[in-house]
Amino acid sequence: MNARRIVSTIGPEGLVFGLAVVLALWNRPEHSVAQLIRVAPYVIGLGGLLLGWRLRRSRLVFALLVLGLAFGLVTAWMPRHPSVFQLVAILLPLNLAAIALLPERGVLTAFGLWQGAGLLLELALAAVIARGAGPGPVWPPLAYAFLPRALSMWTRLDQPALLAFLLAAGAVAAGRRLAPGTTARGYVWALATVFLALHARDVGLDRALFFGAAAAVLGVSTIELSYVLAYHDGLTGLPGRRALNEALERVGGAYAIAMVDVDPFKRFNDTYGHEVGDEALRTVATRLKDALPTGRVFRYGGEEFAVLFPGRPAEHCLPLLEAARETVAAERFIVRRRVRPRKKPVKPKASRGQPRETITVSMGLAQADRRNSDAEEVIRAADQALYRAKQHGRNRIES
Ligand code: GH3
Ligand code: MG
Ligand code: MG
Repeated sequence: MNARRIVSTIGPEGLVFGLAVVLALWNRPEHSVAQLIRVAPYVIGLGGLLLGWRLRRSRLVFALLVLGLAFGLVTAWMPRHPSVFQLVAILLPLNLAAIALLPERGVLTAFGLWQGAGLLLELALAAVIARGAGPGPVWPPLAYAFLPRALSMWTRLDQPALLAFLLAAGAVAAGRRLAPGTTARGYVWALATVFLALHARDVGLDRALFFGAAAAVLGVSTIELSYVLAYHDGLTGLPGRRALNEALERVGGAYAIAMVDVDPFKRFNDTYGHEVGDEALRTVATRLKDALPTGRVFRYGGEEFAVLFPGRPAEHCLPLLEAARETVAAERFIVRRRVRPRKKPVKPKASRGQPRETITVSMGLAQADRRNSDAEEVIRAADQALYRAKQHGRNRIES
């Protein structure tokens, strides 16, 4: 794993988690610090709700509501009911996982109201169990041991709650593949944080600390997602034009830029439909990115990409780009239609197996030098080179 990968796995959410753990390890914090920690869940929770409202992230709003209700139940409303505690420890991770996996559809919509109704139902369940079991021992189903009890003695959570946490974390981590671009990482960290909130020995302070931290994790994760949405292209997941412009403002000294354009792509779209075209663009984006680890690949717009090579002269980039061009040309794109294209296909279907098609790209390369000193000029030069590549028959690179 390279450093970039590690940083992107931990993320700012992991840093918040770590900070909370460090604070929790600080024995007997000063009075003023303790006071701050006690109000943290409320301040962060309210701030998060505001953020969720302004950024239209109903997921954040619901997750914070769930955290708030759980916090209220175990610390203020029914702190002396072990059954309620175990119920919360089961429902909290499952609710967070469901919120992470369900689509974002607003709060004041039919979908949102159903979610709200589900929460009220869970609260009613807590009240019923609290009445039935009272402050006595945990209602047996909530403390059911699948495995020898010795295995779960290290925590105050009973085995059903531990199982719920495992299931929730597994579902969120797996869901990341199903729905890329969601806040899966944030929710995995949030689950770890609420686990510590419930596991906490010092019920008063640590619980406030970790519930506050869980709200912060979710808030930070939402800000992170908004950033990603603003700077990345939704189709390919590559950074977009805005990101390129900012990268160009920062890049100094020697650098090279390649403009990459998919060859007669209009025809590809007309033949196989726009959806197959989208899928092909996604594959081209991935191939370019994987083949060019020393460059930063951007989606410039439409079927055009830009590759920025900071600190590299053009001659260094040429063989890398050649290899990338060949990788794309060697790819066999699946062109089986899932839906009918808007226009009638002009090509007969391949007779056997999944029909496949090749796609090529043309590239134009330019570098920053005395003639092209600012980024706009370098891009214009790369564009002119790309034009020449198209003129000279496509599937080639000009510089
Ligand atoms: P050339 O080799 O000269 O580049 O030919 P071309 O057909 O690729 O060039 P042109 O610029 O005329 O057409 C670009 C086409 O790319 C038009 C549009 O249908 C397609 N396109 C642009 N963006 C997308 C997209 O996001 N998805 C899909 N499916 N098609 C796109
Ligand atoms: Mg084009
Ligand atoms: Mg094109």
